[in-house]
Amino acid sequence: MYTENRKWKTKNFQLLLRRFMQLLEQIFSLLLQPRKVVITTHQKPDGDAMGSSLGLYHFLIQFGHSVTVISPTNWASFLNWMPGTKQVLDYERQTEEADKAIDGADWIFCLDFNTLNRTKRMEQKLENATAQRILIDHHQEPQTEKFAYGVSDTTKSSTCEMVYDFIEDSGYDDKINMEIAECLYAGVMTDTGSFRFPATSANVHRMVANLKDKGLKQGPVHEALYDNFMENRFRFLGNVLLNRMEIFYEYNTALIAIPQADLIKYNIKTGDTEGLVNYPLSIQGIKLAAIIIDRGEERKISFRSKGGFDVNTFARTYFNGGGHFNAAGGQSKESLDEVVALFSKAMTENKNQLSNYQF
Ligand code: 5GP
Ligand code: MN
Repeated sequence: MYTENRKWKTKNFQLLLRRFMQLLEQIFSLLLQPRKVVITTHQKPDGDAMGSSLGLYHFLIQFGHSVTVISPTNWASFLNWMPGTKQVLDYERQTEEADKAIDGADWIFCLDFNTLNRTKRMEQKLENATAQRILIDHHQEPQTEKFAYGVSDTTKSSTCEMVYDFIEDSGYDDKINMEIAECLYAGVMTDTGSFRFPATSANVHRMVANLKDKGLKQGPVHEALYDNFMENRFRFLGNVLLNRMEIFYEYNTALIAIPQADLIKYNIKTGDTEGLVNYPLSIQGIKLAAIIIDRGEERKISFRSKGGFDVNTFARTYFNGGGHFNAAGGQSKESLDEVVALFSKAMTENKNQLSNYQF
């Protein structure tokens, strides 16, 4: 009875502790002891997710840690230039190897996501892992109780900026090499829309200045990310803008809905649809842009807004998603037509906010 009671108390105390994620700074003093480390990020990683994961990877290996980067799914081929992508495990294709790394890990860094369900089929494995999970993320509403240590800051431009801050604050700025500089620059550049979104702070520019001082050449990074597509992607883009985009001027809103047949016809791969949602935002007066893509297994939805329309709440309320104030996403198991109908309903319900457009 006594032991049962003590066990119960210990378990509850641990649970209580876990509710209070400890500051990331607490691990600085532990960096020098080699550990088994896993770094993971959200499914279909973007430039910030992959850049922050590999930036941190190139930092940690310098301390003798044994580090495995795991992506929950595959990723866009335009990220393959990043140093280290060849070593990244795709959880869906290399499950056994990835599970082994997770089982043996002391630390699991979770970068650029804050709810375990953003890792798709890896969710249960992460949930049950005995390793300490460490969060570095800039999205809203983190599951802090899932993380032993971490930092969650929605004012940050990108997770890459946060990994940079982590390196700086740890006192190891001298370890920033060109691999780290290129990965972190790529993520901060993509997540800030090439340094134009409001989260592009003076700190972001100071970070870039420091990376430049260390020898970073930004031109090749931009080219690798933006001038590396195949012809089919541009034919597809033409089709999307001509046939799949609808503008609702009375709501200052644009919607793109892409049937799966288009993805097949134009041989569209992961990453080819990235950024499409931004095109309608260049139309005068458009405040909200949405894209719904029928990926077969699910409908993936992205939202972008300008000014005071909160797409994080919009995505959470209607589309089982989340993200940031001006950039968010969600998903649905309903058919494309049903998701389009739901979007129309959601747009109508937000008419007051959307119609009264003010920057
Ligand atoms: P994207 O539209 O580029 O996929 O994502 C925009 C932002 O919203 C990203 O910061 C991304 O992490 C977040 N996001 C996208 N899809 C989802 C989702 O299904 N759930 C949540 N919670 N966030 C999402
Ligand atoms: Mn990000």
